[in-house]
Amino acid sequence: MDVTILGSGSPLPHPERAGPSTLVRAGGQKYLFDCGRGVLMRAAAAKVGAQNLSALFITHMHSDHTTDFNDVITTRWVMSGEPNPLRVFGPEGIETFTDRTLAALEHDIGYRLAHHEDMTEGPRVVARALTPGDVLSEADGVRITVAATDHSPVHPTLGFRIEAEGKVIAIAGDTVPCEGLDAICQDADVYVQTVIRSDIIAKAPSLRMRDVIDYHSDVAQAGETARRCNVKRLVLNHFVPPPPPGREEEWAADARACFDGEILVSHDLMTITC
Ligand SMILES: [Zn+2]
Ligand SMILES: [Zn+2]
Repeated sequence: MDVTILGSGSPLPHPERAGPSTLVRAGGQKYLFDCGRGVLMRAAAAKVGAQNLSALFITHMHSDHTTDFNDVITTRWVMSGEPNPLRVFGPEGIETFTDRTLAALEHDIGYRLAHHEDMTEGPRVVARALTPGDVLSEADGVRITVAATDHSPVHPTLGFRIEAEGKVIAIAGDTVPCEGLDAICQDADVYVQTVIRSDIIAKAPSLRMRDVIDYHSDVAQAGETARRCNVKRLVLNHFVPPPPPGREEEWAADARACFDGEILVSHDLMTITC
């Protein structure tokens, strides 16, 4: 099983970092977690097309995690030779979000149906809301467990534990330490966590920026979660602010102070195999 950080960025546009999105490959399955800015460009670099995805999972409906939902839907539809329904899983509200995205695409769908004789129907998307505790049994023995995370005041938000081939990958998304996060991370081989440098952000002149501290894990909290849950590898992701090139070690220092395992500071297309 492997995990590829397709987009290691945050809401802040960055020339080298696409928006939050992570690919997990297990057996023949390819799962996408979130679909931020530029996801399909990075997926193309990883040699995965929208038409090859087994399913899309959304951790929460913050815009940075969903900006390219429309691109995933449309590109899968156009690139598939036959009907190829996209399964989308997310928190409560995902069905409405899907319906409204499809409604926004109505013009494009109409143009293409009118133009291409071999296209006889619009994109098929099957959206399903998940609740904490749900367990999905997927093809190739993949098991995906859903937990509630804490990104308050954003509700609901989900984290995912992917188990296959005797290994575990935890996709935490945006969350502070909480019970649900611990549950998906327990004994994980790889734990991917959104982090902020709270020491830097606390000094930001903008209140809007300082506000992000209270609903994200900082680097030390990610390290503490990794230690408490006996994780093997911690991937620090979605950094705010991102580390300037060459200073990644400095950005990981607070986690290294409390966690003895391997720590990786993500960049786009970083792939971790377990
Ligand atoms: Zn968020
Ligand atoms: Zn985010």
